[in-house]
Amino acid sequence: MFASHQLPRIQLFSRFHFHKPKRLLSITSAIASKPIPASISHFSTAIAAPTQPQESPPLSLESLFVPPDTDVSSLHISSLGTRILKGSNIVLSNYAGGDGAEVVNSEFVKSSVATEDCPSDGMPEFALVGRSNVGKSSLLNSLVRRKRLALTSKKPGKTQCINHFRINDCWYLVDLPGYGYAAAPHELRTDWDKFTKDYFLNRPTLVSVFLLIDASIPPKQIDLTYASWLGQNQIPMTLIFTKCDKRKKKRNGGRRPEENVQEFQELIRNFFQTAPPWIMTSSVTNQGREEILLHMSQLRNYWLKH
Ligand code: GDP
Repeated sequence: MFASHQLPRIQLFSRFHFHKPKRLLSITSAIASKPIPASISHFSTAIAAPTQPQESPPLSLESLFVPPDTDVSSLHISSLGTRILKGSNIVLSNYAGGDGAEVVNSEFVKSSVATEDCPSDGMPEFALVGRSNVGKSSLLNSLVRRKRLALTSKKPGKTQCINHFRINDCWYLVDLPGYGYAAAPHELRTDWDKFTKDYFLNRPTLVSVFLLIDASIPPKQIDLTYASWLGQNQIPMTLIFTKCDKRKKKRNGGRRPEENVQEFQELIRNFFQTAPPWIMTSSVTNQGREEILLHMSQLRNYWLKH
């Protein structure tokens, strides 16, 4: 049962993921099969040259994430391509940018052991979650450009907590405990499930979960289960594919990150009415950093206005 104060978030999610905008529907059937060139810049007016890695499959209109209040039907297919964030399926809306698309300051605020202990100032937040070793701490450090901030979450006693980091004094990045420890005792796994699921379902200021998936390996069942749970419970979700710099040679049987990313999306397609947003990243090369921050800014600005 949801409390009434949660409704705006659920509605936001519905609009982001489950209800295709009518206008989009009307043009989808006509041009869905046409490939869309990807953008070279983070912003819409940039050079219209294809820049996705050549081996990436072209994006179709149906596989794009189109934010609410974004009318793509008036855009020519080639100019729509210039509004897609590099290495992602995300169309930039007019909500993107403004204050907060860059991290000016960041600070650890608190560790909470339950949802009701989390900060109560009403500022919007994004939760980072993923299998242990997926690269969550590295991504957090790369986002805030501080080498050791995320170590706070790894200190004894804090690994099983909800850790809040305040960004630019106006929003939060939230580090949740990693899941999927092979060696974790059964009771701990059950606890983890209860604890994080309660946070997802009962945190009204949660704008979106950022689910981290290791793109250097084929999809894992535990990640698929997690993504489907979020989808079925209508929790807003963005997929962050990590370690995209790790390129295995095909002749050695390894698969490229693009192939793993593609397969993961195919496997979760049925859990979502429309494609969830995804971004390819690397904490080694900083690929995807600006794109994540821009995407967060558009989700946040939309959330603040509704
Ligand atoms: P966490 O357990 O999810 O917090 O993962 P960490 O951030 O501690 O990273 C786990 C391991 O993956 C470490 O050895 C990192 O150096 C490595 N790693 C993390 N991100 C990347 C990445 O983007 N590329 C590569 N090649 N390695 C990474």
